[in-house]
Order: sequence, then C-alpha cells, then structure tokens
Amino acid sequence: MKSTISSTLQERCQGLCELCSTDSAASAYAVSPKNNDVIENEVALCDQCLSILEGKDAGNHWQCLAGSIWNTEPSVLALSYRILYGLKDQDWANELLTSVDFEESVVTWALSAYQVQAVHVDSNGTELQNGDTVVLTQVLNVKGANFMAPKGTVVRKIRLVPDNPEQIEGKVNEQTIVILTKFVRKSA
Ligand SMILES: [Zn+2]
Repeated sequence: MKSTISSTLQERCQGLCELCSTDSAASAYAVSPKNNDVIENEVALCDQCLSILEGKDAGNHWQCLAGSIWNTEPSVLALSYRILYGLKDQDWANELLTSVDFEESVVTWALSAYQVQAVHVDSNGTELQNGDTVVLTQVLNVKGANFMAPKGTVVRKIRLVPDNPEQIEGKVNEQTIVILTKFVRKSA
C-alpha cells in the first residue's frame, strides 16, 4: 500500500528514499500487513524502488539494501529484510541477511509476507472459518472473567486468531474470549 508522504515522514527520511538513499522520496509505502495509519509502518520510497517492489525488474538495484539494513527504523529494516529474504539464494543477499543482528519483531514482520495463512481446525479436524458457529465440547473456565461456560454452549460468529491456529475468539456471556480450537466442534 502506498500513499503520499506526510511532513513527519518527509522529515524522518530527509527527502531521500529510505531504501536506496539516492533518489528523492516520492511515496509512503506501508509494510504489510500494517497500513498507512502511522509513519512507523511506512517506508519513504523513490519511484524506482517502488516500481521494483510492484514488479519491475530489479537488475542490481537491491544492492542498495546493504545500506538500508543499518537503518534504525523497524519498518525500513522489515522491508529490507523481506526483499533480501526473497533473494536469499543469491550469495550477496544471504550475506547481508546474516551480517546484521535483526530484532525478532523485525524478522517476524518481514517474514509475515511469506507465511501461509494458518489453518484453524476444530476437535474433529474440520476447518473453521471466520463467522462460523461452534459448540464447546467441554466446560470452559474463563480466566479473568470469573465464569464457566458449560459444555454445549453455542458460540456464534467466531473470529480466527490470525497468528495462532490453536485459538479463536468468540462471545460468551456478552464477553469476547479466546477459546482453544481443540475444545470446540463446528456446528452444522
Ligand atoms: Zn529508492
């Protein structure tokens, strides 16, 4: 996702593309799955870096990432890591990836683009979807909420927890709680 550069982002990047540090920054690129809400999610990009990200042939252009991996902004690091990871079968890219000690949160953010969406299944192995209705297959002791949901409780319109295939969210007693998928059965 891209949008126009805010004045605060313009100030952060000092007018230059945060990947290549060569050309003028022209767009604010949000590093997925985050969006353009805050500049901490964004990277200021020149037209050339943006067009390569959108599919144009990179040539040798991504060698510039040898500079951007030393940036202090997590968004710039995550995007740099993500691009290099896609090129890691090339020695130079692999070397750059291993030359910096990236924060775990940066790596997770970077690699989210490569992860297959987790599949959530119920106690019978049936795949669950957002909006499904499930039935509790055992008593649920809701920690922190001070109540027990009996076996057989129907929970409608569940939400899958995106980064954890063992968890869903649903409303019980008007409260949204996290439920383990192994304790539910999909209702027909
Ligand atoms: Zn650039």
